[in-house]
Amino acid sequence: MNLTALEADFGDAWPDLRGRLKSNAPLADITWFRVGGPAELLFQPADEADLAYFLEVAPADLPVTVIGLGSNLLVRDGGIRGAVIRLGRGFSNIEVEDGCRIRVGAAVPDVKLARTAADAGIAGLAFYRGIPGAIGGALRMNGGAHGVETKDVLIECRAVDRKGGRHVLSNADMGFAYRHCGAPADLNFTEALFQGEPGDRAAIQAEMEEIAEYREAAQPIKSRTGGSTFKNPPGHKAWQLIDAAGCRGLKVGGAAVSEKHCNFLINEGGANAADLETLGETVRARVKETSGVDLEWEIKRLGVGPGGTA
Ligand SMILES: Cc1cc2nc3c(=O)[nH]c(=O)nc-3n(C[C@H](O)[C@H](O)[C@H](O)COP(=O)(O)OP(=O)(O)OC[C@H]3O[C@@H](n4cnc5c(N)ncnc54)[C@H](O)[C@@H]3O)c2cc1C
Repeated sequence: MNLTALEADFGDAWPDLRGRLKSNAPLADITWFRVGGPAELLFQPADEADLAYFLEVAPADLPVTVIGLGSNLLVRDGGIRGAVIRLGRGFSNIEVEDGCRIRVGAAVPDVKLARTAADAGIAGLAFYRGIPGAIGGALRMNGGAHGVETKDVLIECRAVDRKGGRHVLSNADMGFAYRHCGAPADLNFTEALFQGEPGDRAAIQAEMEEIAEYREAAQPIKSRTGGSTFKNPPGHKAWQLIDAAGCRGLKVGGAAVSEKHCNFLINEGGANAADLETLGETVRARVKETSGVDLEWEIKRLGVGPGGTA
């Protein structure tokens, strides 16, 4: 499939497309790790109808991957084949509704949801203050912190499937589990409706400040990182297993296990995606050796690796 030709021809082939399309688009700058190769084709839809149109008319064999703010992503050095969808301005609506509900577009940063809820005196959504992704990523990852997860506050969400079909999914349809959403993998989430409860504005703001201070003290939030690398295995904390395996500060090329929080990997400046993935796999092997536990990646690794494998 000639994607450059697709980009060049899209005006003729897809006259109604309104979003931005670019071939060979760099992705490293839009992920937290700042590594990885380009997207063969990057599409930034104008709105949900535009996204649905693109998915309907795009060739059926064109692989499609949606990304958010890249705070849970390791894009491999060979880049991502096919089309990468990144939601922008057309998905940045946020409205407070009656009954302590907030309707929010999938491109809205989680922290903006938390702030809007606080300003409206709506409690229960302050945990989003500490998660640096956008709402689409929170839905796919069942993002959570401080004892609350997306599954506890979501009423329903909207999504577009690979053929352009539009859906409304209830909380139950999402098949949420710890850092997992069981909804079909081809769904692109576009909007969510959250339920909070009446709260005191000053108290919610104080809770958010506490969350921010805790993050600053406990996590390398100013580094090039992907957050928690591995899920906590049942009955264990991943960071404790990693520490016990002697991996705190371990390095591969420009990648290091954070000294501050050893379930975080850091790009110290010159890392590529292969350094980070090799480091993660080395940590997994050492933890398996010392504790017998298999760590499962929480970070999503996307794209083509050194051997050309996806
Ligand atoms: C410093 C730091 C701290 C973090 N702390 C936490 C924490 O406390 N709790 C927590 O849960 N996570 C945490 N994370 C991880 C990350 O922020 C969350 O997983 C977040 O929800 C990812 O959102 P994103 O927009 O960055 O998604 P991305 O990283 O871009 O993508 C993550 C996954 O979601 C999918 N996705 C993204 N948008 C959509 C969409 N619109 N439709 C369908 N699928 C989509 C992608 O395909 C990918 O599989 C942290 C990360 C960092 C860097």
